[in-house]
Amino acid sequence: MPDTPEPLHPIVVIGAGPAGAIAAALLKRRGHEVLIIERQRFPRFSIGESLLSHCLDFVEEAGMLPAVQAAGFQLKNGAAFAWGERYTAFDFGQTSSNGRPTTFQVQRADFDKVLADQAEAQGVVVRYEEEVIRVDFSAQPQLWVRRADGSEYHLAASFVLDASGYGRVLPRLLDLEAPSAFPVRRAVFTHLEDRITGPGFDREKILITTHPEHRDVWFWTIPFSNGRCSLGVVAGEEHYAGKLDDLDACLKGFVASTPSLARVLEQARWDTPARTLGGYAANVKRLHGPGFALLGNAAEFLDPVFSSGVTIAMRSASMAAALLHRQLQGEAVDWQGEFATPLQRGVDAFRAYVEGWYAGYFQDVIYYPDAQANIREMICSILAGYAWDESNPFVREPQRRLRMLAEVCQGSLA
Ligand code: FAD
Repeated sequence: MPDTPEPLHPIVVIGAGPAGAIAAALLKRRGHEVLIIERQRFPRFSIGESLLSHCLDFVEEAGMLPAVQAAGFQLKNGAAFAWGERYTAFDFGQTSSNGRPTTFQVQRADFDKVLADQAEAQGVVVRYEEEVIRVDFSAQPQLWVRRADGSEYHLAASFVLDASGYGRVLPRLLDLEAPSAFPVRRAVFTHLEDRITGPGFDREKILITTHPEHRDVWFWTIPFSNGRCSLGVVAGEEHYAGKLDDLDACLKGFVASTPSLARVLEQARWDTPARTLGGYAANVKRLHGPGFALLGNAAEFLDPVFSSGVTIAMRSASMAAALLHRQLQGEAVDWQGEFATPLQRGVDAFRAYVEGWYAGYFQDVIYYPDAQANIREMICSILAGYAWDESNPFVREPQRRLRMLAEVCQGSLA
């Protein structure tokens, strides 16, 4: 087919996941024409099912909260942690940030479709089953796109937001990839009919279970509203040696070696083949450049443990949309000072807690039975996603505060 460019598109967003849908809707609401190019047809499976309170702030900002609330997702009011006989629960109604007390646990196929449909309903154009395969940013940004039937076309844009998640379109094509500082970890996961009846299980919380012997191995149990749940194990590659040929047996084996979780799931009907994802931690050299910015997982992905991915994705979308709007109004804006650096501060706060989790000292804090209420509220703020709330000392100085607190907890436990 002829390779004729379409008329100039003001804003092209790559990917219609949470980052792309929110960014596109926010820009459309400010009066800009936005085109999303999405490789898949929705609904499509995605991992990342436990939301944090803070992400609903962006869903609301994008005018999508009523649709999300009406979709029948499982209400979530906090996070519970179990390690052997130890159990502790953090309630999102008790945070130092006075954030939203509830959020949702969602099947991402449905959630992402609600967001993308909402963006479309607001006037965003979404082209499904079209994949961005090549780019040129040497002058006016240009994208080459392949349709499902194999045909290709190309288009020019004033600005491109890359929200391609694990597709990592611009990091790959513009040589922006940077290694993650985290070791390679892998998740093996499934959905199952959980048949959990025990009174001790709270369906309104994600349950994070630490493996009894390996503190760097942990499980998520994310109940949905339909009697099913998402279950996954996360461990360093070394824990999977010889186990990945049979993913179902692998996941069942990890659960069987964790009695507190095996008890929770003893009636479960395992009806869905397990899947696996490894080496998902990723980073980039920079979050922006002439004519583009990177959002969500297309930029950095830390780790699944505190369910921060969708919140970071939406936060980046909101910040980028506000800045791009100002730029398109003719203002001189500073993508580093007004987008990358402030976004990174919250990401770095999450990073400190992820590092502390795997090193064990944040687990000492979480499982500490006698924590002061106000300290728990500050920690809970971060677990609820308010990692940009600089009034929280555990956000302002995450490493130092966490280390100090861990020493107190370890001293008292000794
Ligand atoms: P995505 O949701 O990945 O969306 C990107 C979209 O871009 C996709 O629809 C894709 O089809 C499209 N795309 C890709 N390439 C192209 C291309 N070339 N052209 C056009 N379109 C393209 N986060 C949470 O908040 N809570 C959790 O409980 C959680 N659990 C997780 C568990 C695991 C094991 C992992 C690995 C991650 C988890 N996450 C979790 C993180 C979460 O999955 C991501 O952070 C989140 O999906 C990022 O959203 P996004 O919009 O940036 O990207």
